[in-house]
Amino acid sequence: MDALSDFIIPIVGLKLGDHPYQFQVDGKFFEEFDNTELEDGALDVDLVLTKRPNLMELVFRVKGQIESLCDRCGGSLKLPLQHEEMRIVKFSQEDFNNTDEILVLGNDDYEIDVSHMIYETIALGLPSRRSHDESLNGQSCDQDVLDKLSEYQEKEEREDVDDRWSALKKLLTNKE
Ligand SMILES: [Zn+2]
Repeated sequence: MDALSDFIIPIVGLKLGDHPYQFQVDGKFFEEFDNTELEDGALDVDLVLTKRPNLMELVFRVKGQIESLCDRCGGSLKLPLQHEEMRIVKFSQEDFNNTDEILVLGNDDYEIDVSHMIYETIALGLPSRRSHDESLNGQSCDQDVLDKLSEYQEKEEREDVDDRWSALKKLLTNKE
């Protein structure tokens, strides 16, 4: 849990207006979240917290590199990432349900943990298709793995055909 203690901002006594914060995210940060698609990375996070009378706007800008897995060969893949998200934090005495967009704090909450918001910003910035690509990210797939995969696929298809033949043969012999 210590890895995330840097991401707690004291909000008591914060004046109205903009407050900038900077964070660094590394492998230790990702260890705290259970997601195999996001295991490592190095990113700078700029946060501007704007305090208004009854709410706070938090704009997160993340920039850096993350390590994920390639969709094609399963190998480690480094991807540049740049993304921006805004979250709104409201204060209320009543019990509110937190939603994805709005986090509700009690009036006596004196700090806010932004680690999950940062993690979400990074996750939302991930491209949906992730693979080694010479022209896009200058990385190429592990050819050995690709060869083995296609070998395996061909073998599966052959066996599939063999299976169908033997089933058909069985059907035909049973008829006789
Ligand atoms: Zn690959």
